[in-house]
Amino acid sequence: MIDALIKRWVNARVRALSAYSVPDATGLIKLDAMENPYGWPAALRAEWLERMRHAQINRYPDPAARQLAEKLRRHLALDANVGLLLGNGSDELIQIIALALRDEGRTLLAPEPTFVMYRLVAEVLGQRFAGVPLKAADFSLDLPAMLAAIRTHSPAVIFLACPNNPTGNLFARHEIEAILKAAPGLVVIDEAYFPFARETWLHDILQHPNLVVLQTLSKMGLAGLRVGVLAGAPAWLDEFNKIRLPYNVNTLSQVSAAFILEHAELLEEQAAQIVRDREELTARLRVLPGLTVWDSRANFVLFRVAHAGAVHESLKQRGVLTKCLDGAHPLLKDCLRVSVGTPDENGAFLGALQATLEGG
Ligand SMILES: *Cc1c(COP(=O)(O)O)cnc(C)c1O
Repeated sequence: MIDALIKRWVNARVRALSAYSVPDATGLIKLDAMENPYGWPAALRAEWLERMRHAQINRYPDPAARQLAEKLRRHLALDANVGLLLGNGSDELIQIIALALRDEGRTLLAPEPTFVMYRLVAEVLGQRFAGVPLKAADFSLDLPAMLAAIRTHSPAVIFLACPNNPTGNLFARHEIEAILKAAPGLVVIDEAYFPFARETWLHDILQHPNLVVLQTLSKMGLAGLRVGVLAGAPAWLDEFNKIRLPYNVNTLSQVSAAFILEHAELLEEQAAQIVRDREELTARLRVLPGLTVWDSRANFVLFRVAHAGAVHESLKQRGVLTKCLDGAHPLLKDCLRVSVGTPDENGAFLGALQATLEGG
């Protein structure tokens, strides 16, 4: 009965999808999701909890999250003429952008492999998605192929994750410039890994009528709060704001994020530590036999290893959860992605990997 109802009423496109799955990490060293492994000093936690004491959860949140937005503007050193829209994670902002620009027969475009949410959101909305392969050797943009695809598809939206996930590299600025010039529609530069790469297009927004920039508090250490940030011309954001559900950023997240932005130097120190540890992790991976290890500007490292699926499983058996990307895209054959954890966690991962490679 329910089956028949679902078949009749749930959109065929939706029925064909599988839900975004997140593996259970209970008891494992969690290096699969680019989380910051560090907490806050006890005194700071106490101060935060004190602030939370005054949060009025019987009231709806401030729909525009004004206090938090103001702190973010200062934190990001945004030009007064650039607007800001907050989301329940940047995932929500990606969905809002796609909804606002949705129409019959339109195409969303991104180089691939990249963040899977772009394709997922396009598919959910019944939009075509054009993935343009990156160059196999170093995952840099294939600019002629991008420009050709832009001419062919006239995409409503182009997503450029920079640094890119799961490859970790930044795309060349002059190539992004060329894409901005050629794009007939909107270009979203997704800077989820800005805390580690420290390169941004935020200050170029006013020069490009078709540019918006996405950031998030997740990767810098607040993944649990779900706060995403979209910066762009107010005219674009006014349109997106019509689609945003009124109370999308909850009170506890608004209060917590505003609080920690007053102590941003702590998150910045943690990011700097993660960058140093990423370099060490990269170097130590390169010493292992048979691996291809790519340079990363983010808080994770991508590497290729024979029989990646089995290696991933063996790492898990040894207590370390990484992300297996084999099968996600042809260019990711036999690739695993490991988030940078604490030095101890990275050491445990390297030990488990070495034992796996030695068949021990
Ligand atoms: C992790 C990630 C996001 C998602 O961020 P949230 O703000 O946690 O939703 C967006 N873009 C890229 C490229 C990411 O890797």
